[in-house]
Amino acid sequence: MAGAGAKPRRRIREFSIRTKMLMIIVPLIVVPMLALAGVGFITASGEAGKSSERYLQQRENDLRAIAENPAIRDYFNNRFYGLDEEAEVYRQQLARSLVRFSNRSNIIDPIVIKIRYVDAGGREIVKVAGGRLNDDLEAVSEQPFFAAVREAGPEQVFLSSIGPEMMAAMPVYELGASGGPPVFQGAVVLDFIFPLEDFRRTTEVIALTFTVVTGISLAIALFLVINFLRRLTDPIRRLVDAANRIAAGDRSITVDIESQDEVGKLSHSFNAMAGSLSESEAALRRKVAESETLYEIGQEITAQVALDPTLDLIVARARDLLRAELSYVALREADAGDVYVVRAHSGSITEAVAAIRFVPGQGLGGQIVASGAAVMTGDYAAEFSDSPFVEAMSEANFRSVVAVPLTARDQVSGVLFVLSAAPDKFDDQDLVLLGALANQATISIENATLFHEVSSYAEQLEARVEERTRELQEANIELEQTSQHKSEFLANMSHELRTPLNAIIGYTELIEDKIYGEVPEKIAEVIGRVGQSGSHLLGLINDVLDLSKIEAGRVKLSLDEYAMDNVVQTVMTNLQSLAADKELQLSASVPDDLPVARGDEQRIAQALLNLVGNAIKFTEEGEIKLEVRADDGAFLISVSDTGVGIPEADQAKIFDEFQQADASHTRKKGGTGLGLAITRRMIEMHGGRIWVESTPGEGSTFSLSFPVRVDAQVEAA
Ligand code: ADP
Repeated sequence: MAGAGAKPRRRIREFSIRTKMLMIIVPLIVVPMLALAGVGFITASGEAGKSSERYLQQRENDLRAIAENPAIRDYFNNRFYGLDEEAEVYRQQLARSLVRFSNRSNIIDPIVIKIRYVDAGGREIVKVAGGRLNDDLEAVSEQPFFAAVREAGPEQVFLSSIGPEMMAAMPVYELGASGGPPVFQGAVVLDFIFPLEDFRRTTEVIALTFTVVTGISLAIALFLVINFLRRLTDPIRRLVDAANRIAAGDRSITVDIESQDEVGKLSHSFNAMAGSLSESEAALRRKVAESETLYEIGQEITAQVALDPTLDLIVARARDLLRAELSYVALREADAGDVYVVRAHSGSITEAVAAIRFVPGQGLGGQIVASGAAVMTGDYAAEFSDSPFVEAMSEANFRSVVAVPLTARDQVSGVLFVLSAAPDKFDDQDLVLLGALANQATISIENATLFHEVSSYAEQLEARVEERTRELQEANIELEQTSQHKSEFLANMSHELRTPLNAIIGYTELIEDKIYGEVPEKIAEVIGRVGQSGSHLLGLINDVLDLSKIEAGRVKLSLDEYAMDNVVQTVMTNLQSLAADKELQLSASVPDDLPVARGDEQRIAQALLNLVGNAIKFTEEGEIKLEVRADDGAFLISVSDTGVGIPEADQAKIFDEFQQADASHTRKKGGTGLGLAITRRMIEMHGGRIWVESTPGEGSTFSLSFPVRVDAQVEAA
């Protein structure tokens, strides 16, 4: 419902003001005018109708007058009584009277055609036609009007239907004697012209007149209204057009409207507005262009990292921006105190100008440094006549100067100058532009200076790092050499120790074997202890020698084919009795179908002897199991015991040299802490690894895994 209502309303809203006003005003004019015209027309045509009625009334009156003619009654009565001669006299009297009547009626316009007196039997008694008596009398009793008249009462008139020729007839009655019914004495019949066309034409003329008058009035009224509305809305339309064109980008539009009314005032305001719009737009465009240029310049300047190219770019762009002949920048020389020196320029510069050096307060530049504010002059020589540089400037022929401070952290670090030979070359706009450029320039100069500092610092740093690296490398080499020397020393030392030790052991054995004769029991006991200690010491020295040889890279595996079950057999043979001494059960499980292995049989045996020996050493009761498997080209060998176990914290370090788990516990057992270190290295040289799983108090399992076939020794890392 709302939609149906909203649609036409919206459509009306889209109409122009003129249409809307027409929609209001036109009905206000047209409706009353049409109403007036209608009323007038109806009144006038009513009047016309009335005159035709009056015409007929007139004819009726005529009939009445004729009907009252006494000659009719006299004629009738005399005839009734048979007095024909007298009756004839009255008939003629009546005839004359009717002729007179006819002629009188037709004086101005022809009205009466025929006038007759018809007696009660329907015979024509007197007939006047065309103003003369007509003796051609007929009987009309058969004619319809007669029957109608016969029926009509006294004073009633019969009237034929409307037409150009009409007939009116009226009965003539004589009152009956002494209250009897009236006696019908015939009728007077009037045939007359009815000017139907005249009446119709009158009505038409009235209608036409009203139509024409109303039409003309309406046309005039509408013309005036439309004209007025146009005058009213035309300026508005032109304003709208102009506003549209302004919106479309045509800013040169003005609207000329003469009138002094509100619309006229509106057009003045509009023109003023359009003017200021185009002015501010032009200003805006200029600003945008300048901002773009400044932005580009800023980008360009900040892209520079080194100071000198940065300064060159700044002066070049400053000169371009202000379309001047020369631009230069003076920077404060940090080491020379508060002196500002020209560092870069763009455009041709005289030697004197290039050599300008100023301190705060000196000349135009000095004034800027002192005040921190920009300076602009259109005539340097006049305004700065007491400057020490006035001569240099005049020689170089510079008149206009604009200069701005480069201010960083509230300190003027430099001044940017732009100069021209033309007097009054620069304006406030130029000053603002140069100021904006100076802001960019200051940042870039700072960055470039910082960059310079940072890069020289970085260079120093790099040099120091290099020096330190070199020192470290040297120290490393020294260390390596020292370590090598240590290993070599240990190897040599061990060798040197073994020789006399072997001699000692050899001699004790010889003494025990009584080669030198009987030995007293006491001495034999001591000699036995010397032999034992010597053997222990020899084992220790052998281990140290082994390890240092390995560390010095002097141990080479002797690779050959071997059978793993032989190795296991060797271990069992060597250690079975040791286990039996402690009442421990030692067992080995080896599959029958082990592949032929390749590696250093002696070293693998040494590793297994170490592990099983340790197991026996650290187990007080229970069993030790040696298990061998071959899987996927690798041996997996485990040695498990039911001994003291190794705390988790120690599990990783027992494979390092001279490391023992629980020192107090181990001390009881003796040992050096080298066995596992050597074992690990042996296995690693075979390309394998060793690890331990243990629960203190329950036992340990040492596992080895290494390739079944080793074709080359793996160099220790
Ligand atoms: P050591 O000569 O001291 O036995 P090893 O290198 O063979 O030197 O062993 C290092 C240490 O590892 C031992 O001192 C001991 O604390 C621990 N250890 C080695 N094997 C076992 C084991 N089967 N049970 C418990 N502790 C062990």
